[in-house]
Parts: sequence; structure tokens; C-alpha cells
Amino acid sequence: MEVCGGQTHSLEKNGILNLLPATIQMIHGPGCPVCVTPVSLIDKAVYLAMEYNVILCSFGDMIRVPGSGMSLLEAKARGADVRILYSPLEAVKIAKENPDREVVFFAVGFETTAPANALSVIHAHREGVKNYSILASHVLVPPAIEEVMNDELSNVNGFLGAGHVCAIMGIYEYYPLVEKYKVPIVITGFEPVDLLEGILMTVKQLEAGEAQVENQYSRIVKTEGNLKAQEIIYEVFEVTDRLWRGMEIIPMSGYKVKEAYSDYDAEKKFSINIEEAPENPECIAGDVMKGIKKPFECQHFGKKCKPTNPLGAPMVSSEGACAAYYHYSAYAEQVPS
Ligand code: SF4
Repeated sequence: MEVCGGQTHSLEKNGILNLLPATIQMIHGPGCPVCVTPVSLIDKAVYLAMEYNVILCSFGDMIRVPGSGMSLLEAKARGADVRILYSPLEAVKIAKENPDREVVFFAVGFETTAPANALSVIHAHREGVKNYSILASHVLVPPAIEEVMNDELSNVNGFLGAGHVCAIMGIYEYYPLVEKYKVPIVITGFEPVDLLEGILMTVKQLEAGEAQVENQYSRIVKTEGNLKAQEIIYEVFEVTDRLWRGMEIIPMSGYKVKEAYSDYDAEKKFSINIEEAPENPECIAGDVMKGIKKPFECQHFGKKCKPTNPLGAPMVSSEGACAAYYHYSAYAEQVPS
């Protein structure tokens, strides 16, 4: 299983899946931050933009993901002030320039984006910016690997770990997982040669009957990770239970804003009284992200669900498995229109 959606896209885009022998099957994993963000959180972002008239800032992918009523893009079309940014620090700047408006940054992502989001809170705090907050829904990779391995339908023999996540967090968290589940975890990059080498290292372990943590991406990933980035994360966030799209609540699988920074936590700052909406029952995103089903096994793949009209997040995101299979795979060509 390649954990990260970026790896899925690289495998598809570079034709690597077609080069592998039939005995090696790659299974896409849950590592797409947009895909795993539950519909209820998108509803909260839409609510803040529509009802509180905040300036709602977000990374680009997120605004096209359907909520239960509408996406942020549809909210923007109806007059909400939704802005696409490349960094949460831009949102702090917008807050300083608009002291009469509340500015909320939609802070989703894995461990990779957590330092920048935490840094935006620290900056706002230090500079006395009181009209800035984040709607945080950070998720963590190691509990997701546990979720996959604990599913009785899982058929994963080894993992390509997400190189960029480990660049931040290091590789120590993975040793208990290889010990518990007896599966190799090879921390792997995103270039075609990285993926080919990561697959080779995994297969060599399996053939030798071993289960170890190995670091293919050593030009980027230090064993201990980026200690400064970790310090920034733990200054602002603490570990909490998180609901994942299409899955259950996974214990201790995400970050929430610490009490000391609760003034910057949009969930506490605003009272968001909306019912928790269920996921779209037509979308099997949970099974896709746990690798139990391939995107083309979804009855709506390429028909009712396309990038231009997505039913679920995995068809929207640049890291979504359904989008990867749709854009690059021969399977997309086989789907009758
Ligand atoms: S093809 Fe569309 S509906 Fe099916 S799992 Fe993927 S995102 Fe959901």
C-alpha cells in the first residue's frame, strides 16, 4: 500500500502500475488530506462563510469538495467571501488588513501541513491579531495504518510510508507498527525512481520474511524528523480522536488546538449549531481509502462521478485516488459515458 495520494498519482501518471508483474499489486492508502476530511467539517466551513460572513480561507482543493448542502465554491458563488490561499500566513495578513472582519483558515491536512498552520496561530498570537482563527481537522498517518491493518478485509503485506510526513515527524513512530503487525514499512519519496526503489526494498523484505522500517527517502527524511517543526506543532496542537470521511472515529488520530490557544480555535470562537450530516451513501470513499476497493469498482466512477461533477472528495483532490485513476488509468477509458 502506498500511503500517500501523491504517491498514487505518481504511480499512475508514470505508468509504474503497468510495469509491475501481476504478483505485485499496489493498493492506494488513506493519505489524501482532502479526501479524509469529513463532510460535517465542510458543512461547518460553509456555515461560517454563509452565516457569520467570515473571510473563509482555504487551500484550493478543499473548496470543490461537496458538503451535505453545498461546497465552499458554491457558497462563494452565492456571495460568501471564500478565498484560496497557498499559505495560512497569508490568512493572518488578510486578518491584519481587515480588522473589522473575522478571518478563518480551513486547516486540514496530515502532519505535513500542521507546522505551517500552527505557525499561523503563533504569529497571530504574537502580533495581537484577534480576528484570526483556524478550523482545524488535522489527521495522523500511524493511526490510519493501524486502522487499515485492523480491518479484517485488509490484504496489505507492506507499506510505502509517506516521505513528506516523515520529513516532519521522523520514522520512530513506525517501529511499534512493524513489530505489532509484522509488515515492512519503507519510507518512500514521490519520484518514479523513489517509488520503484521503495517497492523493491519492500519486496526484498517480504522475500526474506522480514518486517522492518527502512528509509528509501534518506536524502530528505532524517530519522528524528524536523525537530523544530515538531516543536511548533506541539506548541499549538494536542492529539485527539478524529472522525475520518467514510470511516469511524479513529482514536488519537488527529490534532486539535490546545486550550492555551482556544481564542484561535474557530470551533470554540463561533457557535456552530448544525446537525452532523451523514456521508453521501453513493460514495464508497471509505473503502477506497482503506484499499478495500479500487476506484473503478465504484459503480459511479467515471459515470455519475467525474472531476467535473464529483460525488466524493477522492474525485476532487489532486491527491485523490479516484482522480488519479480517472486522469491517468486505462480503466477510465473503459468506462462508457
Ligand atoms: S468514484 Fe466518486 S463516488 Fe465513487 S468512491 Fe470515488 S469519489 Fe466516491
